[in-house]
Amino acid sequence: MTQVFNFSAGPAVLPSEVLRQVQAELLDWHGSGMSVMEMSHRGIEFGQILSEAEADLRALMAIPDNYKVLFLQGGAMLQFSMLPLNFAQTDSTIDFVHTGHWSKGAIAEAKRYAKVNIVASSEDKNFSYVPEESTWQRTPDAAYLHYCSNETIGGVEFNHIPQSDGVPLICDMSSNILSRPIDVSQFAVIYAGAQKNIGPSGVALSIVREDMLGKARSDIPTLMNYKTFADNGSMYNTPPTFGIYVAGLVFKWLLKNGGLAVMEQKNIAKANVLYSAIDASNGFYHCPVALANRSRMNIPFTLADSNLDKEFLAGAEARHLLQLKGHRSVGGMRASIYNAMPLEGCQALAAYMNEFAKTKG
Ligand SMILES: *Cc1c(COP(=O)(O)O)cnc(C)c1O
Repeated sequence: MTQVFNFSAGPAVLPSEVLRQVQAELLDWHGSGMSVMEMSHRGIEFGQILSEAEADLRALMAIPDNYKVLFLQGGAMLQFSMLPLNFAQTDSTIDFVHTGHWSKGAIAEAKRYAKVNIVASSEDKNFSYVPEESTWQRTPDAAYLHYCSNETIGGVEFNHIPQSDGVPLICDMSSNILSRPIDVSQFAVIYAGAQKNIGPSGVALSIVREDMLGKARSDIPTLMNYKTFADNGSMYNTPPTFGIYVAGLVFKWLLKNGGLAVMEQKNIAKANVLYSAIDASNGFYHCPVALANRSRMNIPFTLADSNLDKEFLAGAEARHLLQLKGHRSVGGMRASIYNAMPLEGCQALAAYMNEFAKTKG
């Protein structure tokens, strides 16, 4: 098999060790004679897979006991609707920090169910930074404050956790969860789609502080109520069993490789390789994001001469550096370098960038 480096923003690269284990166990999981895909979600085998996945995630993130870990479906985006339905009433105000595409999606959905206050927005500079927290115009009795810790398309990442100030803090961590240690106890809810840094698409994760449960409006659909999943161990109905199984293997891979503190150091080193290549290119490449908010996970960059974009991408592909085309809304390139991207992938891309700039610059 050709060695490739896959820079997709999501669904994204998974650890090759994990994929090999999936392959080895695909037809016969641990001598059961069954594939995980064929097992009853109520059987002891899948019960073990689910409880280990939860226990391993709790260990990795040091999740306190008063938080529920929920495995859901519908992606991160269904939670854009679930959050206001669970945690706000029609006349309550939800505070949002608006830092780009995914913030915008969460805001649009919340507006359908409650009042929305944008505490700060970086739209004035094309969503290239995180507005200084001291400038935020907050609602003292907001139902919650929502932010996106890493804007996957813009490549803008928070480098700190905002103050809660007595308001529940809710965070969309879809594209940087598990990339560094975080203090879960500062949040009311953390949620993420799986397909960036957790596992295959089809699973979504939510970590919910117990005191948040039971606040939902009465007309909420049963399957959009976090309490339904909390009360039934994520098994009110059939969960995405195969995706949970693969996510569980990713958690084990992370634990085996030193956990999130080690992952953070690796991610810093990986991101530095690419940002250095951009910064050392004398303007041939450009990253529009403010220095303090440069993402460690998604690195957008443009070529000074966008006429060269096609040639850059073709050359990258010839070197097995895949899926580097930027999001259609911003153009240029984007290198997504989640946990499963090895340092060698970033080095190979940086080497190619240097070479391309030398021949074309
Ligand atoms: C990908 C992504 C989403 C959307 O996730 P789906 O699982 O496709 O619904 C939401 N927020 C962020 C930050 C993302 O990166």
